[in-house]
Amino acid sequence: MNKNDWLCIWLLLKDTYYKDKKRVISMIVLAFIEVFHVYIGIFLLGNLVDLFSKGYSFERVVTIVAAAFLFEYLCTFIQKEAQKYYDTKLDYTKDIETKYMNEKAMEFDYEYLEEPEVADLRYRSFGKSYYGITGWCLMTTKSLIKGFFSIVITGIVVSPMIIQNVNEDSFISSRICAIILLGCVLLFTFLNYKAGIYYTRKAKEEINRVENLYNRKQYYLEKFSDIEFQKDIRISSLQDTVLYDVNRMFDGLKEVEYEHGACFIKREHVGGVLVGLNCALVYLYTGISAFMGSMTVGSALILASSILQFSTQMVHLGAAFGNIKSAAMFAKDYLDFMGLKDKNSSCEIRDVNSIKKIEFDHVSFKYPDEQEYVLMDVCLTIDTDETIAIVGQNGSGKTTLIKLLCGLYQDYEGQIKVDGVDLKKLNKEEYWKRLSIVFQDYNILDFSIRENFNEGESDKNIFTALKKSGLEIDSLDYKVGKNVYSDGINFSGGERQKMAIARSILKNACAVIMDEPTAALDPIAENEIYRGFSNLINGRGGIYISHRLSSCQFCQKIIVFNGGKVVQQGNHEQLVKMEGDYQKLWNAQCQCYQ
Ligand code: ADP
Repeated sequence: MNKNDWLCIWLLLKDTYYKDKKRVISMIVLAFIEVFHVYIGIFLLGNLVDLFSKGYSFERVVTIVAAAFLFEYLCTFIQKEAQKYYDTKLDYTKDIETKYMNEKAMEFDYEYLEEPEVADLRYRSFGKSYYGITGWCLMTTKSLIKGFFSIVITGIVVSPMIIQNVNEDSFISSRICAIILLGCVLLFTFLNYKAGIYYTRKAKEEINRVENLYNRKQYYLEKFSDIEFQKDIRISSLQDTVLYDVNRMFDGLKEVEYEHGACFIKREHVGGVLVGLNCALVYLYTGISAFMGSMTVGSALILASSILQFSTQMVHLGAAFGNIKSAAMFAKDYLDFMGLKDKNSSCEIRDVNSIKKIEFDHVSFKYPDEQEYVLMDVCLTIDTDETIAIVGQNGSGKTTLIKLLCGLYQDYEGQIKVDGVDLKKLNKEEYWKRLSIVFQDYNILDFSIRENFNEGESDKNIFTALKKSGLEIDSLDYKVGKNVYSDGINFSGGERQKMAIARSILKNACAVIMDEPTAALDPIAENEIYRGFSNLINGRGGIYISHRLSSCQFCQKIIVFNGGKVVQQGNHEQLVKMEGDYQKLWNAQCQCYQ
């Protein structure tokens, strides 16, 4: 543990305190009360024993019993109240943490989602513990606080008793005997504490050694409930391959879990011997002291129990120290993830009221962590009142161009200007409101059809837009997807695509952008979409990417991409006559239909 590790734990606790004060306070209260409760019990019992052995007075017995009742009741009450906030919340700490991380992933720069380091950070931040990183830090901190309280209380209770017992009448009550006793107790406790650290770390190492197996387990957990995955492995007869891999993974995990468990068993054995030695010494010392009369029976009881309680807490403290390093590592990942800042957060941000012209000025781009340029020196002007088609072979960079145009990536060379203003300086929320986009991998959520449209949109408008995009439906209350709703409907890919198109045309945007908008549609529906495209987008400008060149003919401008570069621009009549990529693509497609 170094300074930074402690700092991470501190910052995480501070963050948790900021989000949920009661949970952190109840953890500290619980740590204190759990230790205090035991010591009070020991103390009262010791006093009662002394009272009886010395000849008791009725009033004192009543006072001690009443105090015992009162303390017992008070401690239990406080303990239960604190548990209400701490233990109950601990059960869904991981869920709360996941909620915060999902919220963060929804708001930070899109670009981060594709950065492998951020993906790693996110994966690690989800934590391996059942209680999540926050839960783990809280539990570990609680053990540390308990250990600390134990040291303090034992110091306060034990030291005066031993000092009081010291006189030179016999060896057992001599100073040297007290020093030997304390020395041995501290030595065994220290060894026990060290064993706790050693074995907890060793167990962690076992788990870390096969981190990839845990990643794989997570992968299969998600995949086995994915219908598409199930369909593919059945049809491709890959069940045996998958099952072989799953079994191999579980065999590996079984071995590691065994080793992991074995570390804790060994730790228990070593701990058992050391606690046993402590018990033997303390019982011997207090027993002989009580027998010889240098200590009352009650004091012997208090002393023995306190020392044993102290050594038990030290065992937990050892385990907590073994855990704290990993807790700090995970806390760092979580804090780093939650602390990701927008890449252009320092720029002056401008509002966007309309979009008339988008210019690409010598733009080159490679994806995060990739070596190859996907777009190279692209220069383009897009007037948003035009209908523009972007064509080119697969992988030529068309979708990437649209992603850059949407402002999803910041790390590119050159400049993208929207009505003369650098795109990086625009308020993204405002900008996205003015654009309407259907990507190839559009998302229709497993909600009702109505909920898939912007809030506040009238049913009449939704029905009209759906009709325009070719989907006749009699109710907007139908639920999409059977996975989430038992009475939901598994709409086909084409029907979902029509919903996505309807959603985009309803949006009051300056330009409509569609990336392969008809990939899942049948030829008749596709033909209707293209023929009625300008009606569909209500006379607004539109940019769309398509492989079917026949559907580009109606566009005022066609931009041809090849290998990340704009190789041709013009309208259909101009391009089809010119030697070049467009002519080649056109001829190739014409041959298919002959
Ligand atoms: P098109 O739309 O013309 O088919 P894309 O713009 O989708 O082409 O892809 C252009 C190139 O960028 C392809 O080689 C593709 O593999 C690569 N690419 C696309 N998305 C990513 C990504 N998220 N990370 C890395 N490479 C990508």
